[in-house]
Amino acid sequence: MQRDLLDALRCPGTHEESWLVAMVSHAEGPELLEAELACPVCAAEYRITGGVALFADRQPVDDDEPYTSDMVLRLAAMLGVAESPLPVALVGRYAAASGVLASFVAAPQLLVNSGAPTNAPGVSHIVVADRLPLGVETLAAIAVDEDYASPALLESAARALRLGGRLVAPADVPIPAGMRELARDEVEWVAETTVRASGLIELRRRAPESVQ
Ligand SMILES: [Zn+2]
Repeated sequence: MQRDLLDALRCPGTHEESWLVAMVSHAEGPELLEAELACPVCAAEYRITGGVALFADRQPVDDDEPYTSDMVLRLAAMLGVAESPLPVALVGRYAAASGVLASFVAAPQLLVNSGAPTNAPGVSHIVVADRLPLGVETLAAIAVDEDYASPALLESAARALRLGGRLVAPADVPIPAGMRELARDEVEWVAETTVRASGLIELRRRAPESVQ
């Protein structure tokens, strides 16, 4: 997992948003290979091992279908990102597009519940259960495959997207609240966020509206 992603991580526990405290035991340059992640609110602990951040047990993954350049170009068009400092997330089978997508989209990549981790630069790997452990406005775009497109995961994806960020998901699942459909075919729809999610900012004290 890339060290830069630490700032975006939040405890997936059901409490107010909280950063995770990292104790890094092995890193190589920007890549965290072994670390403990702890939540200061609920005391949950998660691990980065072999470069993969584990928020759930790793499940066996079927061999991913290879992506042709045409398929990846289509995916890149749906994601609508040419260049971004925020990561593009690829969940499940979409992670197989990672290598080719990197030649079209200049952004870090976050591979979620993917097959074997690659050691490509700028690519992070995490394993999750039914929600993404990410803060608000931490992703440029995300594609979620049919195995992981639960309402809870899509809702967490919508929260994590920046304003105008796009979500690609299977045609037969509902679009989360706060998103507007841009296009669909028989396989997928693509929608963009139209409202700003609230997260840690709620914890900040508002300035007094008037001073007596
Ligand atoms: Zn927690």
